[in-house]
Amino acid sequence: MNPNQFQVRLITGTGNGGGGGGWGCLPWMILGVLFLAVLPNWLANGLLLGLTLLIVAPIVALGVLGWWVRRNFIQGSCPACQYPLNGWKFQSAPTQCPQCGEVLHIQEGRYQRMTPPGTVEVQGVEILED
Ligand SMILES: [Zn+2]
Repeated sequence: MNPNQFQVRLITGTGNGGGGGGWGCLPWMILGVLFLAVLPNWLANGLLLGLTLLIVAPIVALGVLGWWVRRNFIQGSCPACQYPLNGWKFQSAPTQCPQCGEVLHIQEGRYQRMTPPGTVEVQGVEILED
């Protein structure tokens, strides 16, 4: 084994872009603990609480956002041509299918046609007489 190679790998292993994780942040963690030990108790507790909130708040916010999107995002298809469509549950304005032009609205979490039920769609056929 080449000793130089080991050294290079060690350096690249610690420099993981400061994204957290790994042992690269260990000296900073030790420094942080020492820093907190020097501070008065109430200030240290306040800082820890602030840091915890700073870390936890985005995670909670992302979780809530994900839950809300899963609840309100609709993945459906055009009832006339089966073209896949995406939309929001609370969308009240009618939309138009980009493929067949059918006017659709969202009802009970599904895409439905604006035409009243029982309407029959007929395609015109030209009949030629000899
Ligand atoms: Zn369609």
